[in-house]
Amino acid sequence: MKFGGTSVADGSRLKNVASLIKRFYERKNEVIIVVSALSGVTDQLEEIARKASEEGRIADVNAFMERLRERHYEVAQEAIAGAEIKSVVEELDARLNDLENALISICHLRELTGRSHDYISSFGERLSASILSGALKSMKLRSMALIGGDAGIVTDSNFENARPLFDMTNSKVQERLLPLLKKETIPVITGFVAADTKGIITTLGRGGSDYTASIIGAAVEADEIWIWTDVDGIMTADPRIVPEARTLSAISYLEAMELSYFGAKVLHPKTIEPAIQKGIPVRVRNTFNPEHPGTLIIKAHEEIKDIVKAVTLIQNVALINISGSGMAGTPGVAGRVFSALARVGANVMMISQGSSEANISLVIDEPQLDLSLHALKREFAENIVKDISYDENICAIAVVGAGMAGTPGVAGRVFSALGRVGANVMMISQGSSEANISLVVSRADACKAIRALHDEFKLGAER
Ligand code: ADP
Ligand code: ASP
Ligand code: MG
Repeated sequence: MKFGGTSVADGSRLKNVASLIKRFYERKNEVIIVVSALSGVTDQLEEIARKASEEGRIADVNAFMERLRERHYEVAQEAIAGAEIKSVVEELDARLNDLENALISICHLRELTGRSHDYISSFGERLSASILSGALKSMKLRSMALIGGDAGIVTDSNFENARPLFDMTNSKVQERLLPLLKKETIPVITGFVAADTKGIITTLGRGGSDYTASIIGAAVEADEIWIWTDVDGIMTADPRIVPEARTLSAISYLEAMELSYFGAKVLHPKTIEPAIQKGIPVRVRNTFNPEHPGTLIIKAHEEIKDIVKAVTLIQNVALINISGSGMAGTPGVAGRVFSALARVGANVMMISQGSSEANISLVIDEPQLDLSLHALKREFAENIVKDISYDENICAIAVVGAGMAGTPGVAGRVFSALGRVGANVMMISQGSSEANISLVVSRADACKAIRALHDEFKLGAER
């Protein structure tokens, strides 16, 4: 079971989480817990680390530490009853002390490497895991807090976005966690945080606690992997954009992957992969409404009656257009485009090429725009490519549903619906799985486009 940041945002919520764990544990389940930082803490840690490296003011670090200490003390005091509080406060103090020293060093060094970024941002989860484990102990359960690396997750040293080394991880996680389960001890593991082969702290990328849960769930071959969050499950659209969005009772692994890759923040995009490997069902549930069954994600979802299941939106992306009549019939242009982008580590989210071959369009993460343009201009210094233009003022939208495969007319309905609300489509692409039609619109058109698609496929209707 993984609990996200909003589920442990304050003392009473954290206590509620501890009671939920107790409830399922007492129904004769073995449970392993993965927990996120208290909501907002990872953002704050990233912010203070950046500030320390840029401005170097120790007074800012002191003020930040004061606020962080207060908040965690308060949460601990509310969530933990009895004598247990003393050892938890000692643990928090030791952690906070390490963090403060690291931030002060950054003030002196005025430099923030990926490695120190990961060390600093790991503290959110390290603090919350100590508190949650303490709360379980104060409810008379056996528990132990563990950093991801100590729980056996071993990654490469690609800081800020580290990849697990699965062979090593799978055996180490079993070795570390199974004996705890035997001793009826509930492990509480920091989400998002792992360690490389030398034991240096790494992180799995923002939102990575979901991924931690599925890495661990797959390693111990859990019966199910549960992601507890602040909504009833995976919904037909982001409820912040479409208030009528409805919770889906079941979807397939493929659909969940498409949704999370295309912006449904409710699951980290890599969460599903380890679950697929071992065929483990993933369930998304709401800590604020635990009676709701949530969304079940499984290999094949039988009823394909819903052609389109959900629509998603990705912000913070940019469009690049590469054009030139010399590109037509010249082999290798696309290959050079992708190699140039791969060399600078740019992640290409969508691609499309017109049949005239005179134009290639790509969607990439916006923070990688400058880097990507630079790489492309250097690659195509000669005249095959006439023009490389870009547009930052865009969003990508995906229409997802495994039932679209082999069902004619879905694309037609997508474009008619967008036409009716005057949303101009700037690029289209459909993966060969046919479970996803993705398109690009301007930022100004994004919300109305999402709502129009949600209406067109009647996704909000009860069924
Ligand atoms: P956690 O802190 O539990 O990891 P997140 O904030 O990362 O939670 O993800 C949950 C949020 O994802 C929801 O509150 C919701 O606003 C957003 N979201 C975006 N798209 C969807 C979707 N299709 N279904 C459900 N939630 C979505
Ligand atoms: N705390 C981390 C983040 O905010 C990981 C997570 O919550 O999934 O990105
Ligand atoms: Mg999340």
